[in-house]
Amino acid sequence: KRSSTVPLLPIVLYPDPVLLEATEAVDEVDAEVRRLVRNMVDTMYAAPGIGLAANQIGVPARVCIVDLTAGEKSGELKVLINPEVKAIDGSQIGEEGCLSFPDITLEIERPLRTTIEALDLDGAKYVIEADGLLARAMLHEIEHLEGHTFLRNISPVRREMVKRRIRKRIKAGDWIAAVAP
Ligand code: ZN
Repeated sequence: KRSSTVPLLPIVLYPDPVLLEATEAVDEVDAEVRRLVRNMVDTMYAAPGIGLAANQIGVPARVCIVDLTAGEKSGELKVLINPEVKAIDGSQIGEEGCLSFPDITLEIERPLRTTIEALDLDGAKYVIEADGLLARAMLHEIEHLEGHTFLRNISPVRREMVKRRIRKRIKAGDWIAAVAP
């Protein structure tokens, strides 16, 4: 449930340019960054979703969050500020969705395991090792921060098919974010 008074920012949909440019590292984890994270968490839980990158709410900062329970369980939220992928290993194939691509799921191959270094909300560096769905979700979000989307991971032929589908839905007025203005 929402208890914050920070207004929700709408989720930005593909192909908005803010999704297609690399975000900038955060200089200092200050009140503004913590406010951004609070807004992202509220937006992600309202959608609901299991991951969100700052540029998905229009803010080009290197910040993303993941919660595989979408807020159903406390203590599951991961906040990654200036995340860097330090290691990847293995491979897994699975269905992915994305809040910037409403009602589209794609089969995506990703590393099975990853080690990521990031800052927490106190600005302290920490290392997180993940596998399976958590690794998938974190790598999906970090891909956003680098100015890419999951379309990067499918074949050019499939990518064109998906883009055509999206263009049709935009034309039909059927390309609508879960959290809209
Ligand atoms: Zn996404």
